[in-house]
Amino acid sequence: MNIEFSDKDRAFQKEVRTWLESAWPTDMREKAGKSALGKLSKEDLVAWQKRLAEKGWAATNWPKEYGGAAFSPTESYIFDLERARVGAPGVVPFGITMVAPVIMKFGTEAQKAKFLPAILNSDVWFCQGYSEPGSGSDLASLKTKAEDMGDHYLVNGTKTWTTMAQYADWMFCLVRTSNEDIRQKGISFILLDMKTPGISVKPIVTLDAPADGYQEINTVYFEDVKVPKENLVGEEGKGWTCAKYLLEFERGNAYSPGLKGAMQHIKTLAETEIDGSGLPYSQQSAFSSRFSDVEVQILSLEYTELRILGALSAGQNVGPESSMLKTRGTELQQAVTELALEVAGDYALPLDQSTPADGDNFSPIGVEGHNGVAQEYFNTRKVSIYAGSNEIQRNIMSKLVLGL
Ligand SMILES: Cc1cc2nc3c(=O)[nH]c(=O)nc-3n(C[C@H](O)[C@H](O)[C@H](O)COP(=O)(O)OP(=O)(O)OC[C@H]3O[C@@H](n4cnc5c(N)ncnc54)[C@H](O)[C@@H]3O)c2cc1C
Repeated sequence: MNIEFSDKDRAFQKEVRTWLESAWPTDMREKAGKSALGKLSKEDLVAWQKRLAEKGWAATNWPKEYGGAAFSPTESYIFDLERARVGAPGVVPFGITMVAPVIMKFGTEAQKAKFLPAILNSDVWFCQGYSEPGSGSDLASLKTKAEDMGDHYLVNGTKTWTTMAQYADWMFCLVRTSNEDIRQKGISFILLDMKTPGISVKPIVTLDAPADGYQEINTVYFEDVKVPKENLVGEEGKGWTCAKYLLEFERGNAYSPGLKGAMQHIKTLAETEIDGSGLPYSQQSAFSSRFSDVEVQILSLEYTELRILGALSAGQNVGPESSMLKTRGTELQQAVTELALEVAGDYALPLDQSTPADGDNFSPIGVEGHNGVAQEYFNTRKVSIYAGSNEIQRNIMSKLVLGL
């Protein structure tokens, strides 16, 4: 197995590195670099994504005909690696990474023309309306109802855990259009304008919520919401096919570039931070051994990812192996936040350690590199739950990869 980058890949890596050095804005670089959480506002993210779009690199996974970068799997990997190296965020996934490929494959020409350019340019933000109270892992049991009223559907029900719904302009949503066949067959995939009367968004306050109002997830209620029939994607009752297709994109990404960036951040801190023993963490054998253990596991994940990239470059699909990446990737994301917590020591005790914005009248405790470390630790508990919990991923691997 040859896992070396080719000369062409190395030239591409140089191009990305040079571009990022000048294009990743200094103010955001400082904001993201100051805290472990790298918290950026919606305005920051839109500005950054527009810059990527101008360069033609916002949609790395899209074909050229829709304005995408059409990166090869290896180029995508290199791009993520370089992005993580300078601490620049990936694009918010719900539009570009998740719903756009579904619209490309199953949408009408009118849907493509309306949504794809707007998603690419970050003018339209989507959120994901899959889960409901009582329908998470068992998604096919969902109950949100869309009644056929002739030219429109009338939607009633509740979606929950909806990430960034408070910022979203549109939601892609799974609704029940029939109860007559097997459960999966009565589900349809619709696009829903979040400004439609009858929609209300209520925040869910989680363990990582600090006093500054930062909050990620929501419950979304629908009461007699009128959705034009033209917003149905694919055929009525065939939404399960769209839903499964989308999940391949939600789960099939590489984790090691981001993990390596986070480990570099911890390494820098561990070289300077000193605990009661008088030695920096990097020179304490117990910490070093835990750090190396995680580092080796990340390396082995990276090799697995490169192996899968090789298969993708040769024209194969990721398939159920994406469950393997999701499980190991998220476990290691959690392990990295545990190391960060350890190096921060007492400074990790306050939950609300956000980096002050201009005009804020408070100083965080300890060095800036520790800001947000407790928040990040609590926030990262979610990664083994969403996009299909890791227990569900293990079920998939045991059946479809191991054939048990
Ligand atoms: C922070 C966060 C953000 C999220 N964002 C979104 C979003 O934007 N949009 C959206 O639609 N959803 C979102 N989700 C929802 C997420 O997809 C669900 O939480 C997830 O699918 C699990 O469903 P559940 O919470 O109902 O738990 P349940 O399905 O009730 O599971 C409870 C526990 O039982 C285990 N379990 C369940 N079934 C099995 C089984 N068959 N075998 C073995 N173990 C099993 C699970 O692994 C879990 O540990 C988000 C969740 C979180 C935590």
